[in-house]
Amino acid sequence: MTSEIGSTVLGYPRIGPQRELKRALESYWAGRSGEEQLRETARTLRAQSWRELHEAGLGSVPSNTFSYYDQVLDTAVTFGAVPERYRELELDPLDTYFAMARGVESTPPLEMTKWFDTNYHYLVPEIGPDTGFGLADRTPVERFQEARELGITTRPVLVGPLTFLLLSKSAEGAPSSFAPLHRLDDLLEVYAELLRELHRAGAEWVQLDEPAFAADREPAELEKLRGAYRRLGELTARPKLFVPTYFGDPGEALGVLAASPIEAVGVDLVAGSTTMEVLSGLTGLRNKTLVAGLVEGRNIWRTDLDDALSKAATLLGLAGEVSVGTSCSLLHVPYDVEAERDIDPQVKSWLAFARQKVEEVVLLDRALHEGREAVRDQLDKARAPIEDRRNAARLHDKAVRDRISKLRPRDADRGEYTKRRADQQRALGLPPLPTTTIGSFPQTTDVRKARAQLRDGKIDEATYNTRMVDEIQRVITMQEELGLDVLVHGEPERNDMVQYFSEYMNGFVSTLNGWVQSYGSRCVRPPILFGDVSRPEPITVEWAKKAQSMTNKPVKGMLTGPVTILAWSFVRDDQPLGDTANQVALAIRDEVSDLESAGIGVVQVDEPALRELLPLRSERHGQYLEWAVRSFRLATAGVTDATQIHTHLCYSEFGEVINAIVDLDADVTSLEAARSRMEVLDDLNEVGFARGVGPGVYDIHSPRVPDSDEIEKLLGAALEAVPAERLWVNPDCGLKTRGYEEVRTALENMRVATERVRGSS
Ligand code: GLN
Ligand code: ZN
Repeated sequence: MTSEIGSTVLGYPRIGPQRELKRALESYWAGRSGEEQLRETARTLRAQSWRELHEAGLGSVPSNTFSYYDQVLDTAVTFGAVPERYRELELDPLDTYFAMARGVESTPPLEMTKWFDTNYHYLVPEIGPDTGFGLADRTPVERFQEARELGITTRPVLVGPLTFLLLSKSAEGAPSSFAPLHRLDDLLEVYAELLRELHRAGAEWVQLDEPAFAADREPAELEKLRGAYRRLGELTARPKLFVPTYFGDPGEALGVLAASPIEAVGVDLVAGSTTMEVLSGLTGLRNKTLVAGLVEGRNIWRTDLDDALSKAATLLGLAGEVSVGTSCSLLHVPYDVEAERDIDPQVKSWLAFARQKVEEVVLLDRALHEGREAVRDQLDKARAPIEDRRNAARLHDKAVRDRISKLRPRDADRGEYTKRRADQQRALGLPPLPTTTIGSFPQTTDVRKARAQLRDGKIDEATYNTRMVDEIQRVITMQEELGLDVLVHGEPERNDMVQYFSEYMNGFVSTLNGWVQSYGSRCVRPPILFGDVSRPEPITVEWAKKAQSMTNKPVKGMLTGPVTILAWSFVRDDQPLGDTANQVALAIRDEVSDLESAGIGVVQVDEPALRELLPLRSERHGQYLEWAVRSFRLATAGVTDATQIHTHLCYSEFGEVINAIVDLDADVTSLEAARSRMEVLDDLNEVGFARGVGPGVYDIHSPRVPDSDEIEKLLGAALEAVPAERLWVNPDCGLKTRGYEEVRTALENMRVATERVRGSS
């Protein structure tokens, strides 16, 4: 048994290089294939990953990073935290699991929310005073054994106990004084039991992820961290414990971990800016392994190995052992840059996806331990693209830079709200409680097929456009039949709300197969923003005009905001994000103006990712929100008072961004609220928000269709918090992942409920 952990990655993509898991899941859910087929696909994918990581030469290969849906949900199930309402369904274990993830007709799913500041979503466990913790399933042990049979001794990865409880919410009915963290001691007993089983199975190391400590934490929580790892560390007959934090600086938690009886600590040296300094002041690491997260797990640029190596070298004396690792799990990047055949070759040479990052980790670790000489050729070869990127002229566009330098503060301000409101009401003439949708309608197989055919040259652009116009006509007709008030064109021409825009802007490249998991089987293909951004010509105007020509009702133009474009792209790291945001904002501003000139009186600029990019540490919030809000305002303030600006935010708990919602100064804000039953409106009232608001009344993340009574109740609850003249009625989010049948029924129910409420208020 070796004492050190060796080079490693904290986790690996699991959806499959060709999204095999996505297809297997969706086929299982649709009843087209059975459980055994799904399990077989999963087993094959796991085996592939383990072999690949093992053969790449990593010192330690992680396991249990595979999931059928989400690793937080897996943790809840493993430790028995399955709420009673899912047990009562009396489904078999796999279907109980999927019921928690996706809901069933009678029972909505668990709440879903973003994993820290990433675009990955986890399911929020519900923990109460009576949650019966116990080792309810042995998946982590089974996966370890499965890898063992392939001849690979892996390091099982679990969400750490503190992070698990800190991410959980109190179960319904728990007293208000209760917090999930109160159950730490009980939960630790079960972690201890699992650790002992893993030890018995032969696991040398277990990884317990504690990213929650890269965010602000109370002193009491740090005490709990100390207590928990003392408790687990003092177990006899256990595997060695490796506890990484990631996504930022762990601050004081680092000292706590360094002083705990665990064997290895991991730090994110890419996102963390003060960690290097904190490390140099610690003594507790002398008898531990430090896994230095030097290769970024969340972005796709090649690592500057010289730079990483000099950082690593300064760490050598600080810990008993230093191993090179990734900053976080590689779950957040695509599999393999070599699979990309269409990316501009120069830009491609600057990129590293998961597979390439593993090579970087192995190389760095060798350079650190065997000396640079041992790997001199490889290091030299890796240096060329780094230098090429640093000096590339194509990163800079003089016209863009000149325009930015000439901006005045008032370019980000609109007219006074009361006047805007009056002008808009005159122009639009909307009824009270106007109904609308968030933009996209179901993306049918025909629509997707047309896009694929265009891409493969099987149909020409004119044919493609005709098909899209037909789809727009169908969506407009349907909305007219449903009696909605502000219509949308349905976004059939968009593959994705960020990628679509990036394809028409300078400064981006897109990938063919660069998929990353967003939630469950859902993947996104983030574009790569490598240089200065501009919009050479209108993007959406023709579609919006076409839709408006089909109806007398107002059609809302649909755009994606600058913050969301950044959040859902892989963004250049050679200048501050705020500078890049301003460039994107000006591109969107041009589009908003062109829509207005084309007669579109309502324009929605979606910012679902505003909260996602919020730094985990509150001391950095102010600076972030300043540039984020300004970029939205810059994008939307170019219009007259009569043009109504909407925005859409995809979550229900604003927390620290609540004041920013006010500052965005949008005329109407729609947000997610169905699952959290309108709680968000009280939060908005507290900060004096006084603009139009559309709390979602239809949870589109689940196939469940709400009936009109349920929607009427939600609207009733909304009216307790918001006066009728400010309330809008809409679903939680876009409808593109749903089917036409369910959407029609749900929107019909929404209209019926709205009419009832209008009649009685
Ligand atoms: N307009 C987008 C849509 O409806 C918004 C999606 C989102 O907020 N994620 O699809
Ligand atoms: Zn949304």
